[in-house]
Amino acid sequence: MIPFSPPRIDDKTISEVTAALRSGWITTGPRVKEFEERIAAYCGIRNVLCVNSNSAGLELMLRWFGVGPGDEVIVPAYTYCATANVVVHCGATPVLVDVRPDFNVDVEAVRRAITPRTKVIMPVDVGGFPCDYDELNALVREPEVKRQFHPATEEQRTLGRILILEDAAHSIGASYRGRRIGSVTDIAVFSFHAVKNLTTAEGGAICLHLPEPFDNEQIYKYLRIKSLHGQSKDALAKTQIGNWRYDVSEAGYKCNMTDVLAAIGLVELQRYDSENLKRRREIFEAYHRAFSPYPQFQLPVFETAEKQSSLHLYLLRINNITENERDAVMERIFAKEVSVNVHYLPLPMLSFYRNSGYQMQNYPVAFDNYSREITLPVYYDLSPEDVNQVVEAVLSAVLQRS
Ligand SMILES: *Cc1c(COP(=O)(O)O)cnc(C)c1O
Repeated sequence: MIPFSPPRIDDKTISEVTAALRSGWITTGPRVKEFEERIAAYCGIRNVLCVNSNSAGLELMLRWFGVGPGDEVIVPAYTYCATANVVVHCGATPVLVDVRPDFNVDVEAVRRAITPRTKVIMPVDVGGFPCDYDELNALVREPEVKRQFHPATEEQRTLGRILILEDAAHSIGASYRGRRIGSVTDIAVFSFHAVKNLTTAEGGAICLHLPEPFDNEQIYKYLRIKSLHGQSKDALAKTQIGNWRYDVSEAGYKCNMTDVLAAIGLVELQRYDSENLKRRREIFEAYHRAFSPYPQFQLPVFETAEKQSSLHLYLLRINNITENERDAVMERIFAKEVSVNVHYLPLPMLSFYRNSGYQMQNYPVAFDNYSREITLPVYYDLSPEDVNQVVEAVLSAVLQRS
């Protein structure tokens, strides 16, 4: 069976993790700090905070901005549940909007969803393909949109407009008009979950790129403490002679990354462009070559003049097919020993969101994308023979040949 997305764990990963284990320091320490600095340099920014997941990072930033009951946060209907769940955790209301045929949030739908209660927009770079950031960044700065904004906290007053909190779970390494994701919006949060492009088993990173007069360095220091129970000194600092006394400034969270996991991330990042992204591109191009001759397929766009995808998910769509027929095609692909997936079940199809009153018929493009979509395996260790097996399985399942 060809798996869908196994992590790349080789001797190099194992020896770096072993070195972290042998170092005597396994939780947040020098490796996390180095990983943060390398991510920042990679993205062309100054301040990155590593946390234990993308979800925790998104929630930490919603709470930093003071999002709570009565507030609205605009979220695409087409995403993983985490994007909306963290809004619910804060007691705020996710306002779902439809997407476009490229899977990403529809900027005009975002505009229509803005109300005086809107505090944050959370665009998602689905599959690693960046959203329309010039349009989104311009939208939140329009005088009419800014006039509607009602700041309730110091951070909201300082920004003076809707915050763009990008769910960049898929898009480390993607770029928009020549700038890496992480440096394009106010805040972007990566995921390093095991199935993501760059993994630490579990993990996430918050890229701070807030405009003046915010001081991103100072916010980084504040968040570091907020992610460790609000405790003024972390465990490493407390090991220094005479440095045991600490204070707690607020009831903070516990979502720090560990040095053991940062060791995996350091190996992953060091070879990310030269090996991982290079191989992903070869696989995307091989799939494109194989499927483009057939009118039955709609191929995912992964680069344009402005955008370069991080090639996270190969989102193949079948033309003129129903949801049930798509499911049957997937079964035939599985029968050929190839694991495939669907990204995503739109949020209104999940019980919690359906029972909260969101209705699928209000998001027709999200439904169309979902009902015809099959995600194919893409990962570093997928060999050219594996790619051929995937292609053959898909062609035989869709064209109904044996
Ligand atoms: C994976 C994923 C998340 C959650 O990431 P975690 O690191 O597991 O918290 C959020 N949003 C999207 C779009 C994802 O795919």
